[in-house]
Amino acid sequence: MRTVAPKPMTAPAASSRFLVRVLPSVESATQVALGELCDLVAAEPRALVSFATGGTFTAMLQALDRAVSAGRCRLDQVHATHLDEYLGFAPVQHGGMVHELCTACPSLRVLLQRGQFLPVPGEGTAAAIARHEAQLRELGGPRLQFLGIGRNGHVAFNEPGARFDAGFHVTDLAETTRKDAAQRFAPAPVPFRAVTAGIASILAAKRLILCAYGAGKAPAVKAMLEGPIGSDCPASAIRTHRDVLVLLDPAAASGLTNTAVQHG
Ligand code: PGA
Repeated sequence: MRTVAPKPMTAPAASSRFLVRVLPSVESATQVALGELCDLVAAEPRALVSFATGGTFTAMLQALDRAVSAGRCRLDQVHATHLDEYLGFAPVQHGGMVHELCTACPSLRVLLQRGQFLPVPGEGTAAAIARHEAQLRELGGPRLQFLGIGRNGHVAFNEPGARFDAGFHVTDLAETTRKDAAQRFAPAPVPFRAVTAGIASILAAKRLILCAYGAGKAPAVKAMLEGPIGSDCPASAIRTHRDVLVLLDPAAASGLTNTAVQHG
């Protein structure tokens, strides 16, 4: 394992812990992400964990379910939530985010049935959003927030141009985002709108773990870590957070030229 101290140029001033790790494979990165989660809930069994959806996290969610079944990870007292939901989608609706999470990890369905999983309110009304935000606050906010990144640099459904000071809100989806979701809904059209955690909601979590795999994510990863911090690349907001782990495979890291990374 080679460890290089972060260069001041790219290290965020406000971060006390900002680590970019490049793992040899998606499988090994998945194990690291899962290990972080299991270690956290072992130390803090009542933690609120906020999951991300998307292909990036399918293997981790499946591995989490195996770990729970084998007794290697205990979710009994955990509260769970997630980043976003398509507008108008009920929590169990096919194509929706909660459905995706519970299908990949049936242990989360158990939490949903017990009221320990707080779904993002797909109805998107101001009252429902305010209730959801209040529930998260009552639980102390997410202890751990998993994040993916879109090819266009979006994080959750904060598309390029998104404000950094927004909480949960209803938003339009970018065309690239809708294209990337086409298979999920085919032959039905992809929804145009979603309810999403805003950048401010994301930054309120105590720790962020962002995962990105594959060459298709390389330009977005480079913009996130080496471009200006701003709404052109909403994921760049993570550089203003004080506790961040970025997990990459070599392909996703291939565009980085000015970032101190840890290999392994
Ligand atoms: P993906 O989506 O994991 O399916 O690539 C990530 C995202 O759009 O945030």
